[in-house]
Amino acid sequence: MNGRVLRAGGHAGAGDLLALVRSGRATTRGALQQATGLSRATVGQRLDRLFRAGWLREGAGGPVDSPLGGRPSITLEFDDSHAVVLAADLDTRHARAAVLSLTGEIQAEHTGALVIEDGPEAVLDELGRWFAELLQKAGQPADAVCGIGLAVPGPVDSDTGRVVQPPIMPGWDGHDIRGRLARAFAEHAGGGADTVVLVDNDANLMAYGEQRAGYPDCTAFALVKVSTGIGAGVVVRGEIYRGIDGGAGDIGHIRVPEGADALCRCGAYGCLAALASGGAVARKLAEAGVPAASGSDVRDLLVSGHPEAMALAREAGRRVGDVLATVVTLLNPGVLMIAGDLAGTPFLTGVRELLYQRALPRSTAHLDVVTSRLGERAGLVGAGALVVEHLYAPERVEERLAALGV
Ligand SMILES: [Zn+2]
Repeated sequence: MNGRVLRAGGHAGAGDLLALVRSGRATTRGALQQATGLSRATVGQRLDRLFRAGWLREGAGGPVDSPLGGRPSITLEFDDSHAVVLAADLDTRHARAAVLSLTGEIQAEHTGALVIEDGPEAVLDELGRWFAELLQKAGQPADAVCGIGLAVPGPVDSDTGRVVQPPIMPGWDGHDIRGRLARAFAEHAGGGADTVVLVDNDANLMAYGEQRAGYPDCTAFALVKVSTGIGAGVVVRGEIYRGIDGGAGDIGHIRVPEGADALCRCGAYGCLAALASGGAVARKLAEAGVPAASGSDVRDLLVSGHPEAMALAREAGRRVGDVLATVVTLLNPGVLMIAGDLAGTPFLTGVRELLYQRALPRSTAHLDVVTSRLGERAGLVGAGALVVEHLYAPERVEERLAALGV
């Protein structure tokens, strides 16, 4: 929606009008006329279709002055009550799922153990059960669901929704996640087997959710997730930057000089993730006799102020900060957000130490290094927003309105 240029010459369709209202750029009939160059009658016809679909409503705020003068106009707003989105965020040992409104409010939420190594059949089938229970909890029928968004801890080809050689998702490579999750939703919740399912990398979706919620004006936003693995998500001008086949941001497998002996889960030696991820810190703690097996175990230890965990997290932060100096130099982001299980004060201190030491002052002068605002819900919120932006994009609205017969 951001940055999209309206078709010139009065050809703006119902989808363009909806985009203008949703973004707040034009929220009265007069403002829509002015923004699109359409006549009052044409704006009226196109709005009528959106009203009939239940996608628009008159705002509660009462009439406001029209930019064209004359009578005050009624404000228009996106009616988010006509549908809901399902979203899930898979981590290696647990998952989180929710029913969200079209404007991103969580209506029902569930977290539980779900082991990604059990493979896509078992995991996606279980998610279908969770979705059924969540819809019941939210009091929503299955046919209110307009789409499903899924965040996974691996690189995703967003054209196919399939993960590509994911180091921490054994058995998922090339699997038809979209088809399987839609089928699980149909089987357990009674939803449509052709429900739109979008799959993306978890760091991408966290970045998308956080940028929209907290930094909507930031045109270059980067988020680094440090949990069991390490990944980065980049949002440029409001859009996720994925590279040509979903590989952008996979910084956990950058080789670092001091890691020659460290075997990574990808099979290579010397990756950043083998040294500085939550998984790597957990391994070092376990070697020292502290029970820890995953990034979330490390998080629990950090929360309780465990001194060894804090020292290792700071050291991990320094290693990640060294790599982030390159990331920041390449991307010149306005915000660098540190998220995931390790994202606390010790880790952030380590990141800052190396980042400011190694990056050029020029590339950090206007950089904010921050922690998450949405916390553990960032991936869910991002997954829900991705589905909504996909389904209500101007180019898709026409087709969907036609399917509704309006
Ligand atoms: Zn690796």
